[in-house]
Amino acid sequence: MGFLSNLFNKKPRAEKGYTTKDGAHGVWIYLQCDKCDEKIAVRLRTTSELQKREGPDADGGPGTFFVQKTVVGSRCYQRIEALVDFDAKYNVVGSQIKNGKLITATEYKETTGNK
Ligand SMILES: [Zn+2]
Repeated sequence: MGFLSNLFNKKPRAEKGYTTKDGAHGVWIYLQCDKCDEKIAVRLRTTSELQKREGPDADGGPGTFFVQKTVVGSRCYQRIEALVDFDAKYNVVGSQIKNGKLITATEYKETTGNK
């Protein structure tokens, strides 16, 4: 009894603002490099890059979908290893980032200063 209720109490909370949808089959996530602070936008194809959390992957994270990706920016050679979990609407519900961190779309735009 206790075991089951513990499982279902852990409902993933959607973090808003970490993704931007791009058309019907694209979603952007934003990463920042630990080493040089470069901000990197990564476009994911929801049809091919996002995997369903099912079978052996079902217990690996809180998401309905997840992506595992290694990203290298243009300023340094550090490899940022990202594992991001999404709910069915592609909101971020969990992430594990090595050598960097996940930032929001707003944070990404703030200091990129694209003119
Ligand atoms: Zn870097």
